[in-house]
Amino acid sequence: MNSKKNAYDVVVVGGGAAGLSAGLVLGRSRRRVLIVDAGEPRNAPAAHMQGYLSRDGMPPAEFLAAGRREVETYGVEIAADRVTAVRPDGAGEFEVDLADGGRVHARRVVLATGLVDTLPDVPGLAERWGRDVLHCPYCHGYEVRDQPFGVIASPAMGIHQALLVTQWSKDVTLFLHTVADLPDAEWERLAAAGVSVVEGEVAGLEVEGDRLVGVRLADGRVVPRSVLFVAAKAVPRDNLIGAVGAVGVLGALGAEMRDTPHGPYPAVDETGRTSVPGVWAVGNAASPMEQVVNAASAGYRAGVTINAELVMRDIDATADRRRAGVFTPEAEAQVAAAVGGHRVHGLTH
Ligand SMILES: Cc1cc2nc3c(=O)[nH]c(=O)nc-3n(C[C@H](O)[C@H](O)[C@H](O)COP(=O)(O)OP(=O)(O)OC[C@H]3O[C@@H](n4cnc5c(N)ncnc54)[C@H](O)[C@@H]3O)c2cc1C
Repeated sequence: MNSKKNAYDVVVVGGGAAGLSAGLVLGRSRRRVLIVDAGEPRNAPAAHMQGYLSRDGMPPAEFLAAGRREVETYGVEIAADRVTAVRPDGAGEFEVDLADGGRVHARRVVLATGLVDTLPDVPGLAERWGRDVLHCPYCHGYEVRDQPFGVIASPAMGIHQALLVTQWSKDVTLFLHTVADLPDAEWERLAAAGVSVVEGEVAGLEVEGDRLVGVRLADGRVVPRSVLFVAAKAVPRDNLIGAVGAVGVLGALGAEMRDTPHGPYPAVDETGRTSVPGVWAVGNAASPMEQVVNAASAGYRAGVTINAELVMRDIDATADRRRAGVFTPEAEAQVAAAVGGHRVHGLTH
């Protein structure tokens, strides 16, 4: 591999809504960009993506395919691969290792790796995830409105989900599962919301003809339900398989983290900048709360900020060289290449 060929202004790790959106604005800023995507977007199990203005109901795969076509229009490269490590190169930039054995150089890195939903330990949930076992009423509630809902209480979120989903159905049963008991005030809120409560551990699901029909308790009782909400634990997917190990790439780089109800997430500013100079984290890699539209927006903001920072950095470096009397035509050509030397492919729309 030729090192020049493999040097990018920005390597984006992850090609979901966040990563593609960063790639789009950077490509349009004439940056040399590589998006590396392992192809496991979080909402892949869902048939439709809801709540994205102008794309409401579009299949997630169709949305991402359109995004890939758009970024490629601007010369952004997309590699179907997995980043295994991101390492500082000792000069304020980065070496990025790929699972296929390749290595690329990046002036800036955007982590847009999403998160992994860790489901409660109940047999059968994973098989129905995103179909009739759900986590987010904003994503799916309207489509399953007025059906008999079940909600598995979670030690972290308590009864919140059960109360919230009454906006979409008045037939809601809360399964206390492993939550031992509730304070009096919570029983009062459940009663006021009309939520039935079933004590006892959930042991599995009843499914007929590939549809959820009930929730089975450990004592053998079956409560008929056709939709089940669960509070999945949302764990950021930053442990790029390989050299950085379980602490995650940001941990390995020494990034500051912040506590969330789902565990530690990187501390970022409003542009997605982490505490590690040169590394941004956007979308679900930075926050468990981001929906697709927010993830796309976060990627865009990061892209805009990174481009502006690189423009100013290169101009300041030239000014410094001129001031020091070490300016050469070669140096100027280098800067020109970095700022404007990236070929823009023909627009098709
Ligand atoms: C079942 C379900 C349904 C949902 N429905 C909706 C909905 O209707 N509307 C809505 O707005 N939101 C919905 N969401 C939430 C939505 O999935 C997220 O908001 C969105 O996917 C976040 O985008 P992202 O780009 O941050 O991450 P993702 O979309 O998860 O993309 C991350 C990408 O990074 C890649 N990646 C990870 N690690 C690496 C690596 N080391 N190297 C290379 N690539 C890597 C992954 O393979 C993946 O392709 C749903 C979530 C679930 C679980």
